[in-house]
Amino acid sequence: MSSTKYIFVTGGVTSSLGKGIIAASLAKLLQARGYSVTIQKLDPYINIDPGTLNPYEHGECFVTDDGAETDLDLGHYERFLNVPTSQANNVTTGRIYQYVINQEREGVYLGKTVQVIPHITDEIKRRIKLLGNTGNYDIVITEIGGTVGDIESLPYIEAVRQLKWEPDFDCIVVHLTLVPYLATSGELKTKPTQHSVKSLLESGVQPDILALRTEYKLTEGVKDKVALFCNIAPKAVIQAIDADSIYEVPILMKEEELDIVVLDKLSLPHKNEPLLTNWKEFLFRLKHPKHKIKIGLVGKYIELKDSYKSITEAIIHAGAFNETEVEIDWIHSESVTNKNVKEKLSHLDGVIVAPGFGERGIEGKIITIKYVRENNIPFFGICLGMQCAVIEFARNVLGYADAHSTEMDKNTSNPVIYLMEDQRSITDKGGTMRLGSYPCTIIENSKVFEAYKKVAITERHRHRYEFNNKYKEEFEKAGMKTTGINADHNLVEIIEIPQHHWFVGVQFHPEYKSTVTNPHPLFVNFVKASLSAKEQK
Ligand code: GLN
Repeated sequence: MSSTKYIFVTGGVTSSLGKGIIAASLAKLLQARGYSVTIQKLDPYINIDPGTLNPYEHGECFVTDDGAETDLDLGHYERFLNVPTSQANNVTTGRIYQYVINQEREGVYLGKTVQVIPHITDEIKRRIKLLGNTGNYDIVITEIGGTVGDIESLPYIEAVRQLKWEPDFDCIVVHLTLVPYLATSGELKTKPTQHSVKSLLESGVQPDILALRTEYKLTEGVKDKVALFCNIAPKAVIQAIDADSIYEVPILMKEEELDIVVLDKLSLPHKNEPLLTNWKEFLFRLKHPKHKIKIGLVGKYIELKDSYKSITEAIIHAGAFNETEVEIDWIHSESVTNKNVKEKLSHLDGVIVAPGFGERGIEGKIITIKYVRENNIPFFGICLGMQCAVIEFARNVLGYADAHSTEMDKNTSNPVIYLMEDQRSITDKGGTMRLGSYPCTIIENSKVFEAYKKVAITERHRHRYEFNNKYKEEFEKAGMKTTGINADHNLVEIIEIPQHHWFVGVQFHPEYKSTVTNPHPLFVNFVKASLSAKEQK
């Protein structure tokens, strides 16, 4: 029997309260006390995974080492804990149903009627226990997506109710709600929280801890009132006040003693006092920058900033490392034209061209890259951003005016980016890209070697198209070097222009691996290069 303890994090009143950040902050504190912790996200939607979702729906799709396309909260878990997650850390209703329906087709249920209870709830419970059963974790935190009271969350809450009654299953429930401030009466209101807890109670679940999101400091009176109405001890009512940075939340949660309340409820020893020395050092650098730069982020989903969550967080990590405040200038790729490119980009110290799919905004990205290449502005192209750099170079340096990726133009006579061999027969969209961690070998005399300081790296991928090796020699001769190769399949993973101040394109997604304690070397060196470019201006 596993001795793993479980913590469920549910949300009430509204969505977007930051359950992921609270879960990650709690995990950070428990980790700092000496516990091994992992966090899991259960998403109530019917997609098998977020890989097929438009970023406008729930923000970016985060990719794990084992190639799972997951919710962006897993990115927060990794950035906070500095421990990789995997497919088991993200489960959707779609995945649960798919599994149960497949079992039904195989005849596993022996003629029984297959129902939400017990079959769906059993499968939810099995998924919750999977991580604990590995024996790798003292504590598993399971964040339940959505808001309590939603129809689609019901089977999850029911699974939690059942687990609370299972012998030998040790768990607690942390419920995060909102305490709104009414400006006209100058009051913080607790009623929505009371109703939200009532709704949980109707499902048979009494929360053990309440975390209250609030714009203003909660008075003891407010905490006592919530405690009284919600059957909770006052010290288990935790204030979760708005913070300037998500990275301050672990410190705020420590001040509220969330970790101690949790350990006491789980009957676990407090172990070490969480010092969080590195974490605080990072926060200090973040808050006391010595320099400032402006980076352009060119993409087509910029109306929803969460679409680029890992990239913006990686920039924050790299900025703090370089004691540099990085202001992001969000540039819609559809808005960039030959006419306005100078006006849009000339003031920038560096430019990132973002990942993406499809035709929309592609010409704006290519025009952007031409401008930064010709004007020696540091450039970092990620996935589609790298592919656009290849297309731009082919068109404007090699003189292939119609060069393109076959993703955008199937009939181009110069497919400098084309579909990978093993992608050609694939018709299903979900989970079929080149996904997850792959090795890459770096050439020593290169900007990327300066950053990584080693030749063997692994990075995470999410794409179908690749550099067409037929053109490799021509590119090299004309000054665009391929400085990183996947040796197993002879795939170009990195391109650079050595003559340029800093011009690097990567076929992988370095942003997924940047954490607070391990800022990603490419982002670190891109920020450094942008800073030096600014100083040379
Ligand atoms: N659309 C491109 C491909 O599939 C790039 C993908 C991406 O930027 N993640 O290869």
